[in-house]
Amino acid sequence: MLTLLKLLKDGRFHSGEALGAALGVSRSAVWKQLQHLEAELNLPIHKVRGKGYQLASPLVFLNAENIALNAPSLEWPIHISDSIDSTNTEGLRLANSGCPAPFLVLAEQQTAGRGRRGRKWVSPYAQNVYYSLILRIESGLSQLEGLSLVVGLAVMRALRESGVQGAALKWPNDVLVGQKKIAGILLELVGDPADICHVVIGIGINVNMRKADEVDQQWTSVQLETGSPVDRNALVAKLSMQLQAYLERHKTNGFVSLQEEWEQNHAWQGRSVSLIAGVNQIDGVVLGVDHQGALRLSVNGVEKIYSGGELSLRLRDDS
Ligand code: ATP
Repeated sequence: MLTLLKLLKDGRFHSGEALGAALGVSRSAVWKQLQHLEAELNLPIHKVRGKGYQLASPLVFLNAENIALNAPSLEWPIHISDSIDSTNTEGLRLANSGCPAPFLVLAEQQTAGRGRRGRKWVSPYAQNVYYSLILRIESGLSQLEGLSLVVGLAVMRALRESGVQGAALKWPNDVLVGQKKIAGILLELVGDPADICHVVIGIGINVNMRKADEVDQQWTSVQLETGSPVDRNALVAKLSMQLQAYLERHKTNGFVSLQEEWEQNHAWQGRSVSLIAGVNQIDGVVLGVDHQGALRLSVNGVEKIYSGGELSLRLRDDS
């Protein structure tokens, strides 16, 4: 099926006969594969009598050389997969098998993309960016403080550079445009955080996705926001350059040096929110974040600090 997709990627018409000849299968087998392509990969294909088949929009595949051309100072080796369970899982596997960090893992598709607490990240083929950066952390816990918030800043900047001016942050780790989610971040740790460990920085960005019925909350993509298709290789390059710069600042000066910038770009700064922790709910007004990236809420007029992976923020209906 992927070979067929590669034949069609130029967005031109290809006759069933020519496709069959290239694949060494019958025209009816081509027809079946095309139906699979449409259904499984959610890629619309035009069928015109006398002309053949054409992808509704041309596809540009991820390509390490292309990324390097757009980000010449990037030093991270890049591993690209066609289809993988999750780029974070692949990153962990590669780190465990001795692959020296830092390195990047990208995929055209994730079959088991993850959000927080085992939630699913919808990851259709060749439409979005599924990106994991694997880092080795040697200097202990302080290097992890506020890290996922810093990654959010880098993602937000890369999106704005790509024309999504309205990209903003939602504590702790989402990037929104208005109320719609455009990117998610998932950090995972292996090893001893007090000593030497690996951190996997997983980032999913909706790039050219225009339809995804399975996403059960409001979402958007770069293409939906800017009105035109986006070169994912260029976006990966922008994201990597931003990440490299922000991670360097974080490593040298700590999250405290980025705290104010983060608050300035928090979509829900000053808003009335509910903080959900399992079955408990805390209502308050967002004051900002502290020097470790924990949430500062005014609860009944008293400042309280919250942190931890089990917390979710929601806007209050009356906000
Ligand atoms: P939280 O505020 O706790 O982070 P969340 O619902 O945003 O809540 P995440 O774990 O960050 O949870 O992300 C997973 C959720 O994101 C899924 O449950 C789904 O609602 C949504 N989602 C899944 N795939 C996509 C996607 N490609 N684009 C936007 N949103 C998605």
